[in-house]
Amino acid sequence: MDTAAAGAVTEAAAIEARGIAASCNHFGFCTSTCPTYALTHEENESPRGRIALIGAMLESGAAPDPRTVAHIDSCLSCLACTSVCAMKVDYMHLIDHARSHVERHYRRPLADRLLRRFVAQTISRPGLLRAALTLARPARAFRRLLPGRLGPMLELLPRRSPGGADIAPGIHPAVAQRRQRVALLAGCAQRTLAPQINTATVSLLTRLGCEVVIPEGAGCCGSLELHMGRGRGARRSALRNIQAWLAAAQSGLDAILINASGCGTTVKDYHHLFEHDPSWAGEARRISSLALDVSEFLARIGLGATVSRPYRVAYHDACSLRNGQRVTRQPRELLRAAGYEVVDVPEGHFCCGSAGTYNLLNPGKARLLGERKGRHVDSSGAEVLAVGNIGCMSQLSNYTRMPIVHTVELLDWATGGARPPSLAGLPPPAGAGLRASPGEGASAAAGGVGIW
Ligand code: SF4
Ligand code: SF4
Repeated sequence: MDTAAAGAVTEAAAIEARGIAASCNHFGFCTSTCPTYALTHEENESPRGRIALIGAMLESGAAPDPRTVAHIDSCLSCLACTSVCAMKVDYMHLIDHARSHVERHYRRPLADRLLRRFVAQTISRPGLLRAALTLARPARAFRRLLPGRLGPMLELLPRRSPGGADIAPGIHPAVAQRRQRVALLAGCAQRTLAPQINTATVSLLTRLGCEVVIPEGAGCCGSLELHMGRGRGARRSALRNIQAWLAAAQSGLDAILINASGCGTTVKDYHHLFEHDPSWAGEARRISSLALDVSEFLARIGLGATVSRPYRVAYHDACSLRNGQRVTRQPRELLRAAGYEVVDVPEGHFCCGSAGTYNLLNPGKARLLGERKGRHVDSSGAEVLAVGNIGCMSQLSNYTRMPIVHTVELLDWATGGARPPSLAGLPPPAGAGLRASPGEGASAAAGGVGIW
């Protein structure tokens, strides 16, 4: 896109954002759902307060003051506020636009600029992230001696190297007769931090009769840069994915599946990211219309025969799945259909503090929210915690001793796949055995059911 076209896109987005800010009636029902307001009881740390600050910043069009930037930075983008807003204020696009305005008009202190550049450029590149983790792990022992946010960042490092290899791009054929052809977003950080999630996803989908394509060239969804106000970088990443999926779609695609809900919310919104770009608006709309969280797709096609493993599983709603995509029912129903007992985590509407890169850039508030969520997880009385988003899994591993798995790992295990590595220490539940989900037995049994 040339400079004039890019300027027109920015102006169109600014007009839209000013309209969103003006649609708030300031009654403040949202304040009760906002984690940062609950922590601070400060008006400017509430959705209503932030909307007023952002509205004033956009009206002036000038560089914001550091106080406004701090309140924008401390928003989790958890979107809990949108779940109760009667005026349907489009806060998601408003805060993204505010961050982009800050990025263009505000010069951050040097240390902040360096940290943000490091985070933006490392986490979305699996090779670089792997190298950074290898180098940083030995430094963990000295984290209390490090200045600024470096110490808390090292706290968040996974304690162990992840097991298993990254899934290979290419075509993974259906094990049973092919029913569907889907593309899977392999993602970026998840491939390094928990490669077993993609392995379990492909294992489950192929067993259920899906051909799974992981196109070469697809990678980071762009959300990481988008939520840091770097819209241009986000659009570059999104465009790479759109082109890779369009190429894969030439042989037919029933869906594009995402198993990290933070990424899913962004891919479902690609149509908005490109709405003012006539070259790609149509293609972006097509990609968004095919995008599904993996649990939505599995709920459509059914699980087939399962081996009942009656563990008590606490299900944690990632904000991006609950508020960003409004997907709450399907993961619970699938886990129950697979034979698990499912319980909710108390105060489920509150963010765990992960929020993309939030726990790296705002470690103080992220820790308070992580501790609060960890206490609720532990109080659930469950044996396992299931989550649909790698960010929450990494964050919560610091605040609970309960083993944490992706929902899809439990579903894969219950339908014949491998035992999730993080459940290696759990004793077998009493009463494990073969059973068939209603109406699904024949088709899935063809894929084979694993033994304990
Ligand atoms: S609930 Fe909606 S309209 Fe009311 S103050 Fe919050 S954002 Fe504004
Ligand atoms: S997105 Fe979350 S943290 Fe930000 S204002 Fe809304 S409820 Fe508060």
